[in-house]
Amino acid sequence: MTKEKLGLNTICTHVGEIKDEQFKGAISPIYLSSSYEFLDVDVKRYPRYFNTPNQEYLSKKIAALEHTEAALIFASGMAAISHLFFAFLKTGDHVVLQNTLYGGTSNFVREEFPKYGIEFTFTNGSEVGDFETVIQANTKLIHIETPSNPLLTITDIKKITTLARSKGILTSIDNTFASPVNQNPIDFGIDLVMHSATKYFGGHSDICAGAVAASKEHIDKIWNVSKNLGGSLSDFTVWMLERSMKTMGLRVKAQTKNAFKMAKWLNKHDCIAKVYYPGLKSHPDYELAKAQMKGFGAMLSFELKEEFDAHKFQKELKLIKSSMSLAGIESTVISPALTSHALLSQEERDAVGISDGLIRFSVGIESVKDLKADINNAITKSRTKKAVANA
Ligand SMILES: *Cc1c(COP(=O)(O)O)cnc(C)c1O
Repeated sequence: MTKEKLGLNTICTHVGEIKDEQFKGAISPIYLSSSYEFLDVDVKRYPRYFNTPNQEYLSKKIAALEHTEAALIFASGMAAISHLFFAFLKTGDHVVLQNTLYGGTSNFVREEFPKYGIEFTFTNGSEVGDFETVIQANTKLIHIETPSNPLLTITDIKKITTLARSKGILTSIDNTFASPVNQNPIDFGIDLVMHSATKYFGGHSDICAGAVAASKEHIDKIWNVSKNLGGSLSDFTVWMLERSMKTMGLRVKAQTKNAFKMAKWLNKHDCIAKVYYPGLKSHPDYELAKAQMKGFGAMLSFELKEEFDAHKFQKELKLIKSSMSLAGIESTVISPALTSHALLSQEERDAVGISDGLIRFSVGIESVKDLKADINNAITKSRTKKAVANA
């Protein structure tokens, strides 16, 4: 049985299962041992070596989902990204980073790299030319994120990897927003795929984890650094993550379908100024998204018209929670101006298109009619007095 031939939901359900030889139970047993046989064994197992039975086997599921040979599971998405960076970068190296990265990744780079003499440049945009102009002779890695947070711009993965390969530069991507259900960057030439497994892999807002998927050679290189840094995931959580991932295909497809319906509805709504969703034909990157994504994802953003108070709108939502993080089966919203981009100045936010009225919407699996009713109710209640006076 080759993994490539298996369908998405079969991989989610079965790849990387640990057989319960003793009792023939239906699911993987959980191995909590932090001490394993040392003499005459092929693999010396230890939780911080990322190779307990549960860690090793769940990695196979992640690798199969991302079409790679191997994968590693980490204690958080930031552990995954930091271990990846430290595995491939050293003093004197330079890295090119997309300007629209997850805030935690940008902070990590700005705060930690100078301590280690690693140079970096953030691009000014997402076109291939924006990357080409900042490549230096010592550039070792290009790191991208598509779709971007929170405006869902799409970067042409193939163009970036073609450029990088022509110059012998490695490429990595944060594939958290799309998830492997909607995008497989390896098929477009990316070398290293990382995830915050806290998001769609977990899917129930009760797990913090991370992952990197790549060739065996690259994963071995990361592992050599990771065993020194620590940052492995506890077997309890690995086991929880396996359970969650069994339904990832079902969940993310249902969420993606809901997001598509909500985006189309919001786009026609009288009180909404703008909708950002790559599945809308009006999105500037619609064709590109169609070409490189299997589905358009379950994240979208929208702007309320000026006469509505975004803060009040969020408070008036009853079903949809105003909540940090994303990707759970429950719908959530946040205001990027007040959270992920709060540290930027008003001018910086204006420059990247984050208005005060922008709402990021992580669409869950609820019935669409209930989501619509909740939003309509909150909109009605968040109309400002000024607007009423003008009316
Ligand atoms: C949440 C997130 C991360 C960081 O993951 P943690 O699990 O919180 O460490 C990285 N990238 C993206 C796109 C995220 O949404």
